Amino acid sequence: MCIFCSIIENKIPSKRVYEDENVLAILDISQVTYGHTLVMPKKHVRNIIEADSETVSQVMEAVRVLSRQIVENTKAAGCNVLSNCGGIAGQSVDHLHFHIIPRYDENDSITIAFNESKEQDLDEVLKTVRGE
Ligand code: AMP
Ligand code: ZN
Repeated sequence: MCIFCSIIENKIPSKRVYEDENVLAILDISQVTYGHTLVMPKKHVRNIIEADSETVSQVMEAVRVLSRQIVENTKAAGCNVLSNCGGIAGQSVDHLHFHIIPRYDENDSITIAFNESKEQDLDEVLKTVRGE
């Protein structure tokens, strides 16, 4: 059983931020910034690529409500919402989850950098991502 399924079934303790029939939000054990929260479906799906529409809708609605709640209550200036999808993207737990990471200032303990990239032919890229 995956570690988040064990948490959902109360076999492993967690700090529960929010829970309903379909969704659980817990404090990340490693608080990248103060208030760092994980929002996950109770149903085991690997990540957003493999998830069904209903499950994603339920989780995203909780992400929407909780991002606002967490930013307000922590008095953060904003937040990053992210879901790592696949090992190459840094997914270490194979159960869909969204990180809500409150942001306090530019020097808080997270950096998300978009490095300089090769120039691309955007029309060619567009065809590829559209599957044409
Ligand atoms: P990711 O690397 O995107 O798959 O994120 C997995 C997250 O789960 C990491 O930020 C971990 O700190 C967090 N995590 C792992 N085990 C636990 C746990 N038992 N309770 C709370 N968070 C956890
Ligand atoms: Zn699971």
